[in-house]
Formats: sequence, structure tokens, C-alpha cells
Amino acid sequence: MTLHLSAKAPSEAQVPHYIPAGNECELFELAWKRKLPLLLKGPTGCGKTRFVSHMAARLGLPLSTVSCHDDLAAADLTGRYLLKGGDTVWVDGPLTRAVRNGGICYLDEVVEARKDVAVVLHPLTDDRRILPLERTGETLEAPPEFMLVVSYNPGYQNILKALKPSTKQRFVAIEFDFLPKEQEIAIVSAESGLEERHVAPLVNLAHRLRAMKGHDLEEGVSTRLLVYCASLIESGLKPSEAVSAALIEPLTDDADVRLALREVAAAII
Ligand code: ADP
Repeated sequence: MTLHLSAKAPSEAQVPHYIPAGNECELFELAWKRKLPLLLKGPTGCGKTRFVSHMAARLGLPLSTVSCHDDLAAADLTGRYLLKGGDTVWVDGPLTRAVRNGGICYLDEVVEARKDVAVVLHPLTDDRRILPLERTGETLEAPPEFMLVVSYNPGYQNILKALKPSTKQRFVAIEFDFLPKEQEIAIVSAESGLEERHVAPLVNLAHRLRAMKGHDLEEGVSTRLLVYCASLIESGLKPSEAVSAALIEPLTDDADVRLALREVAAAII
């Protein structure tokens, strides 16, 4: 199936570089056209945010990204009354702005946010597509250009922070994972400028370290860390030092585990 992109398709240089793993670009565009909200599942640093900014640029839509944290409440998304020069004025939050003006609102790591956020998202993610603003008395209807995209990392979940089925089942979902070796080498090389033949051992090492996830490590090496590591090498740092700084130190604070990781690295790099 061919993709029909928006009339004001941006030039290639304006679209953030993204290598698809499958049919996710097509799925995203169809979900946008059919006004369906989208859930991206996958480990940190595997390309979810890049994918959303790539698609927003391709579709010519404004993008508003919110990194959710455990203090983020519904009012941070919808807006609040603020004092401005003696007057109290209503200021829209990022979600309200995206609903009023049309565009993509991307809530990264949505499970981290406070529970009242789900209450705001529910009427926006069924066929009503409305955002009731209790504080202003308005009920905003989302225009066709509005799309809600959320992401979460199922690996981080605990009982307290799972995404409820009643919320999960309101979204079309795409599962993300790290790309196959050849594609990941191409990405890391393109992003860092380091030649593919020098990137290949780093990706091999990442695969070894990812296999240790769940045993000695909570999380494996992300594509993001591989890009950092390759960028440091490209800028002249010794590979062993770059591997230590970008692929080992960020993974664990446990001295024994770090020692074991260094041994694995020394055998590959
Ligand atoms: P996430 O949102 O899943 O935590 P990001 O989208 O921030 O991860 O990805 C981290 C980095 O990895 C990006 O900045 C980009 O350099 C690189 N990357 C990962 N996947 C891809 C991909 N498919 N195409 C291009 N770059 C990618």
C-alpha cells in the first residue's frame, strides 16, 4: 500500500532520520487518518521518540512531547490559572494546545504520570474525542488533525505502575524492540559518523550485554547508548574508554557486575 502524505510534505532534510523495522510508518499514518490513538511499547532508547518526530514531520503536523514523571498531574497537561500582572489568566497545557490547534501530543512513559491523567485521557481516546476542562467549563472537541500517542516500557513495570487494561485497550499498539544487527549498525553509523566496520563490534557487544538483562542487569544497552559510544570514538576517544563511559558505567553501579561487563567487552572490542 502506498502512503499518501500531507500536501505540505516537508523536504527530506527537515524529517528526522528514522529507519523503520516493519510497517510502523504506514500503521501510524492510518491510525492518524482514522483518528485512533496510538500506544508505543518498548525498552528505553530503541527509537520510539525518534519515530514520533519522524512521523510528525512527514505528516506536516506540530508535535508536542511531554516526558511523564511521577509528579506529573492532569493539570500539567490540561492547563491552569496563573497570576499574570495582577490578573488571573488561564494558560493551556500541552495537551489542551494540541487539542485546540490540531497536531500530535506525545506522552512519553505515560505510566509514570499520576493516576488523574488517565481520567483526562479516557474521553479523548474513545469516539467522543473530547477534552472536558472542568476549571474553565469548556468541553473541547478534538479536530481531525489531533492525535494522541503514548509510550511505555513494559520492562519497567511493577504492580503499582502497570498501565491499566481499561486504559491500554483504548489504543492501537505497536511493539518496539532493538533492530536486527545490520540495521542497528547502519543507524549507529549514520547517527555518529563512525564507519560501519568500527560500529559492528560495538553492536555485537550490545547484543551480548542485552542477553544479560534480567540476570545481572536491569536494562540492556540501548541504541541511544550505542550512538553515544560511537560518537565518542568518532571524536577520537579510545574505543575501550568510550565503551566504559557509554556502555558499561550507565548500566550498573555494582562494582562486581561492572568488572564482569569489562571482561565481556575486552573479549570483543
Ligand atoms: P526512546 O524514545 O525509545 O527512548 P529514542 O527515539 O530517543 O528512544 O532513540 C534513541 C536514539 O537512537 C535516537 O536519538 C536515534 O539516534 C537512535 N535510533 C533508534 N532507533 C532508530 C531508528 N529506527 N532510526 C534512526 N535512529 C534510531
